[in-house]
Amino acid sequence: MQVRDKLYIDGAWVPSTGSATIDVIGASTETVIGTIPQGTEADVDRAVKAAKDAFKEWRAKPVDERAKFIQLLAEGLGARSQEISETIAQEVGMPVFWSTMIQAGLPQAVMGSYVEIAKNHKYEEQLGSTLVVREPVGVVGCITPWNYPLHQIVAKVAPALAAGCTIVLKPSEVAPLNAFVLAEICADAGLPPGVFNLVTGTGPEVGEAIARHPHVNMVSFTGSTRAGKRVAQLAAETVKRVALELGGKSPFVILPGLSDEQLDQAVNAGLGSCYMNAGQTCIAWTRMLVPRADQDRVVAKVKTAAETFALGDPLDPGHMGLGPLISATQRDRVRGYINKGIEEGATLVTGGAEAPEGFETGYYVKPTVFADVRNDMTIAQEEIFGPVLSVIPYDSVDDAVDIANDTIYGLHAGVFGPDVESASQVARRIDAGQVDINGQKFNPVAPFGGYKQSGTGRELGAYGLDEYLEVKALNL
Ligand code: NAD
Repeated sequence: MQVRDKLYIDGAWVPSTGSATIDVIGASTETVIGTIPQGTEADVDRAVKAAKDAFKEWRAKPVDERAKFIQLLAEGLGARSQEISETIAQEVGMPVFWSTMIQAGLPQAVMGSYVEIAKNHKYEEQLGSTLVVREPVGVVGCITPWNYPLHQIVAKVAPALAAGCTIVLKPSEVAPLNAFVLAEICADAGLPPGVFNLVTGTGPEVGEAIARHPHVNMVSFTGSTRAGKRVAQLAAETVKRVALELGGKSPFVILPGLSDEQLDQAVNAGLGSCYMNAGQTCIAWTRMLVPRADQDRVVAKVKTAAETFALGDPLDPGHMGLGPLISATQRDRVRGYINKGIEEGATLVTGGAEAPEGFETGYYVKPTVFADVRNDMTIAQEEIFGPVLSVIPYDSVDDAVDIANDTIYGLHAGVFGPDVESASQVARRIDAGQVDINGQKFNPVAPFGGYKQSGTGRELGAYGLDEYLEVKALNL
């Protein structure tokens, strides 16, 4: 049980001005594994003032000095990687085998990547008689979700620090314990007071206070499209810069003409993406688009492969399958979507809405596959955020591209073709911020973000740093 009873503001651990607390519930135990302060608007105000005061000195430091702090933070994340991995396995339910690589390893890698990116970025450019200079935006409010909690925090904090911005972070109240570890790492690294501040609490109270605050210059939000729209509306009152990383309903297009071996690779890549973190992944390829003539063959392979994904205890180091979902609400929502799929006439291939046997405790949902899905069905249009794959048949490659793009989202996609060239041609026609070709892996310095209602702006790498820079023209 982790009792966190202080916020991190202006370089010190301080009590909230309010007295309420929030319980953190373990995904596999359904018990209280921690408590955190339920911060208030007054706490936000204090943190923003600290960040505003710290901005002058932080922005004036040479970039090499800021990069040294970022290096220390990356080392701190590395030193505490096991603790981070286990904490997030408990909070979110991702098995430690994956959590070590993704929930702890990825934030460390992203933090580390900004050491060189910060130093090598082009901050000045001569345009005729004008010198164009890039300057930090100012105080940045970061609001983050629970599914890859520390990665989503670091994807904002690292470039913001590199740019010379100061930060007020509000992590998800559902998986907040990892954010306290980061605050401790910032303190241990000797980051100047006020550069990084942590205020925990709920979205409507702390999140909205950040989005509204007149001295917050930019708000960077990752989460649901619903909450992102609200944040953007509030931020518009003071014309803040807004970066939004929102939901997805990503397609995975399997092209005609694959050999049997390629089809196996495609099915494994597709299911791996869809079921990662028990389907609680914004970029999950939840719609598998297959040539109609190949549907039966693909579905047989998908069924066999899906049934190898075992459920298990996230804290068992040998478990490489799926853990539970994060909460009872999420589990019930996902089961509701599975019932909806059946009602709307999709064919249930494996899985289902009923509770999996032997997992009475923990928010487990069976890995599920639907075939004969039409793209206008609810399960093909709405973000389910659980281990539910929809196989959708198509009649031609043009039809596949139309189906892939027939969604309000545009975060990510995958294309698997007989060769990279033909798959790339299709990838260029898909409206999404990132497309993986033939099962390529995630690149932590490639620009990441959404088209359409999946968001605005890009995170990670040099593009992610640009988000936190204003452009000024000095006419000399
Ligand atoms: P959420 O929108 O419920 O919450 C995200 C954050 O916003 C939390 O910190 C929450 O407290 C806060 N919040 C909620 N209401 C708010 C309000 N009115 N004002 C200000 N802040 C508010 O999302 P979630 O359930 O934590 O995360 C799942 C969602 O996040 C999914 O839709 C997923 O696709 C999306 N997501 C997107 C990306 C991406 O990079 N595009 C990455 C991960 C998750």
